[in-house]
Amino acid sequence: MTDCIFCRIAEGEISARVILETESVLAFHDLNPAAPHHALVIPRRHIATLDEAEPDDRSLLGDMMLAGAEVARQLGFAKKGYRTVLNCNHNGGQSVYHIHLHVLGGRNLSWPPG
Ligand code: AMP
Repeated sequence: MTDCIFCRIAEGEISARVILETESVLAFHDLNPAAPHHALVIPRRHIATLDEAEPDDRSLLGDMMLAGAEVARQLGFAKKGYRTVLNCNHNGGQSVYHIHLHVLGGRNLSWPPG
């Protein structure tokens, strides 16, 4: 059994509030939302960090982005606008080492981020 929490969510061993699923990715609500809408999109296949992604992962990374846009449309905040974020490693603020795209919306998001 893997100790990666997002692999375990992808395998259905840990529950999550799933928004959408495809063959390659899964989107679910963040447990600790940083905005009125805060979803995460993960690949089903384990990739620890963006730094470890390879050219063969190009289409999977594209699937994550497109799923993020679909989540925003499904939850109704696409037209007003939103932000996608992929934190990488310690200085990027990554805390779960299975890549995930944050999709944040429902309020004005300041820039630059902290
Ligand atoms: P990051 O800091 O970029 O690695 O983001 C990790 C995110 O995963 C945080 O926003 C957490 O709130 C979220 N998170 C951690 N565990 C879970 C979980 N079991 N279900 C949903 N979201 C989670």
